[in-house]
Amino acid sequence: MFNIAIDGPAGAGKSSIARAAAANLGFIYVDTGALYRTVALAALKRGLKSEDKEEIIALLPAIEVSMGFVDGEQRVFLNGEDVSEDIRLPEVSAAASTVSAIPEVRQFLFDLQRDMAKTNDVLMDGRDIGTVVLPDAQLKIFLTATPEERARRRYEQIKDKSDVTYEEVLKDLNQRDYQDTHREIAPLKQADDAVLLDTTNMSFDEVVKAIEDLAKERQV
Ligand code: C5P
Repeated sequence: MFNIAIDGPAGAGKSSIARAAAANLGFIYVDTGALYRTVALAALKRGLKSEDKEEIIALLPAIEVSMGFVDGEQRVFLNGEDVSEDIRLPEVSAAASTVSAIPEVRQFLFDLQRDMAKTNDVLMDGRDIGTVVLPDAQLKIFLTATPEERARRRYEQIKDKSDVTYEEVLKDLNQRDYQDTHREIAPLKQADDAVLLDTTNMSFDEVVKAIEDLAKERQV
C-alpha cells in the first residue's frame, strides 16, 4: 500500500487540499481530526467538559467511532449516528484539542487509523501521522502557513455561518497551536523526513499539484 501522511497546524488548509489531492491520485482520504472531534462530541453530549480527563477515559468503552465513505466522502459515526456535521461546531474544535492530549484517547483511535492504512492507499491528515501513526509512510508532508494567513482563510470559510470575528478565529487558532505543539504525547511536529510546504503564498491548486508531483515521484 502507498501511504501519504500530511501533518500541520490548524487552518493550514490540510483537509481541503488533502481531499483534492487524494481524489486526483485515486487514494482514500482519511481526516483523523474528525475522529478526535467525535470523541470530544461524545464527551460534550454526556455533559462532560473537555478537562474531565478521568470521566472521558471512563466513557471510552461506551463509545464506538467508525468511518464510512459515501460517494468518496468520509463520514464519521458515533455509536452508529452520522455526526459529520456536528463535529464542525467551534466548541467541538476547542474540546477536540483538549481531549486529544489524553494518552488513552490517542490509543483508542490508533488502531482504527492504522487499519485503514494497512488495507488501502491512503492520504491521511492530522498532527502525528508522519511521526506516530504512519512512521513508514512513503511520503510525508508538513503543511503550514503563517498564523495570520491561516486565520484569514478559516475566517473566510465561516464568516457567513457564524458571527465570530477574525480576531477570535486567530486567538482560537493560536491557542490550539500552542496546545497541539506543547502536549506531552504525540505533539505536532514535523517528521525528520517530511517535506515542508509553506503555503502562505501558494494558491490552492499549486499546493495540490505540489503534493501530486511528490507522490508521483515516489511511486516509481
Ligand atoms: O484537524 P482538526 O482541526 O479537525 O483536528 C481537531 C483537533 O484534533 C486538533 O486541534 C488536534 O488537537 C487533534 N488532532 C490530533 N491528532 C491528529 C488529528 C487531530 O491530536 N492526528
